[in-house]
Amino acid sequence: MSRRDTVLAEMGLAPVWRLRRKQAKNEWIPLKAEVSGCTKCALHKTRTQTVFGVGDENADWMLIGEAPGAEEDRLGDPFVGQAGRLLDNMLAAIGLSRRENVYIANVLKCRPPGNRNPAPGEVEKCTPHLLRQIELIEPKLIVAMGRVAAQTLLGTDASIASLRGRVFQYAGVPLVVTYHPAYLLRNLPDKAKAWEDLLFARRTIA
Ligand code: URA
Repeated sequence: MSRRDTVLAEMGLAPVWRLRRKQAKNEWIPLKAEVSGCTKCALHKTRTQTVFGVGDENADWMLIGEAPGAEEDRLGDPFVGQAGRLLDNMLAAIGLSRRENVYIANVLKCRPPGNRNPAPGEVEKCTPHLLRQIELIEPKLIVAMGRVAAQTLLGTDASIASLRGRVFQYAGVPLVVTYHPAYLLRNLPDKAKAWEDLLFARRTIA
């Protein structure tokens, strides 16, 4: 049982908490429909499908990447390619899985053509979807993966190196920063740093 659950149970609030979570479940349906039909920016014209997010809707951990790539656009789930496999392996090493206690989403729900960086207007239009996901999940911690996600969520142009190892806030939730798994595939020595980041994240959430 997590510390939050223990405290709630001691206060006799656990059943209320569970009820609230259950009610929140129904609120996913309109949000998912809104995202899959979204035409707020031009990316809807080039996407195969939207990539909403995947994982445990009651997760303590919420991992946020940049935007779907080609494979994600084709399959409809985030981080399904080689970078996703690396991410899953790193999560497994600290006993986590996208099936349990982890939710994975992106800043953008549609693939930017040619995997270019998200444009500011696209981020602006898509951010309400992400905020609503955060509101429904109520994660204990957000992990921003990669420069674009970190800089976008924190409204900074600081480097990943300077943002690592610190606890920020996003939408009222503690946020830590780490490297993007696709970057780690190209820069294997930095895997050790990403591992440190995950351990730091775990200490932050404890
Ligand atoms: N990169 C991301 O940032 N998100 C994905 O879903 C896949 C690759």
